[in-house]
Amino acid sequence: MPHGYVCLTFDFDALSVWVDRGQLTATPRSRGEFAAVAVPRLLEVLARRGLAATWFVPGHTARTYPELCRRIRDGGHEIALHGYAHENVAVLEEDAERAVLDRSVEALREVAGTEPRGFRAPAWDLSENTVALLNERGLRYDSSMMGHDYAPYRCRTGDRVDAEGTVWGEETPLVEVPVSWSLDDLPHLEFLSSPARTLPGLGDAERMFADWELDLRYMLRETEQGVLTVTFHPQVIGRGHRLLRLEEWLDRVAGHGVEFATVGAVADLAVGGARLGRPKAAPPRG
Ligand SMILES: [Zn+2]
Repeated sequence: MPHGYVCLTFDFDALSVWVDRGQLTATPRSRGEFAAVAVPRLLEVLARRGLAATWFVPGHTARTYPELCRRIRDGGHEIALHGYAHENVAVLEEDAERAVLDRSVEALREVAGTEPRGFRAPAWDLSENTVALLNERGLRYDSSMMGHDYAPYRCRTGDRVDAEGTVWGEETPLVEVPVSWSLDDLPHLEFLSSPARTLPGLGDAERMFADWELDLRYMLRETEQGVLTVTFHPQVIGRGHRLLRLEEWLDRVAGHGVEFATVGAVADLAVGGARLGRPKAAPPRG
């Protein structure tokens, strides 16, 4: 049995993220195109090590790059949902959000012939209806929330939080495989600018991977069967200096006795009753 799990996830936003940002002049579009240059490089990095990852693919990307999506599928990876055109579902009415979900499922079915089992919200924000809609769809997991670092948990509906206090809602069958901005390459590394905000990015990839390795070491020391989920974007991680750091990191991680697993596989373990990410029992004092 492995000491823990690492989920490698890739958000293949390509041009869709620039659609969502309303930045559709030639250069932002070309930044989206670069993702398609990076995907074969990443598939090669993973194939050389025999690793399966989870790729969150917007419907827009699937229809723009159908051959690449089929290559991802044929590489033994999981393909899951990430909106249609990278919509912020948090601001959508229920019917509009349901329509986006239907359209994104349809795109992945048509292009890759796969039935997605999980969802990641673009920009990691959910509406009050998202969990119910994902359950209604029969999906197994979400991977957008941040309520734990190492333990998958059940998503709730009906939480009420206001200035008076908090009333927790009901747990649902949907499994959350949690994420974190600190475990995402984009805020560390990518420079983004718009009239609304600037994300400085352009940090040191070696530093980012060193921090992620510390998160992993802490997980292995403190938890049983913990899960560390890291998020990459092909357009970010797919440049030379970052790819070399990624390769080094993957090889170091493999030395820690963890198993690389897809998010879907981890969600299946959680549904099957595996106690993932629980604190280790304290040694007896004496
Ligand atoms: Zn995205």
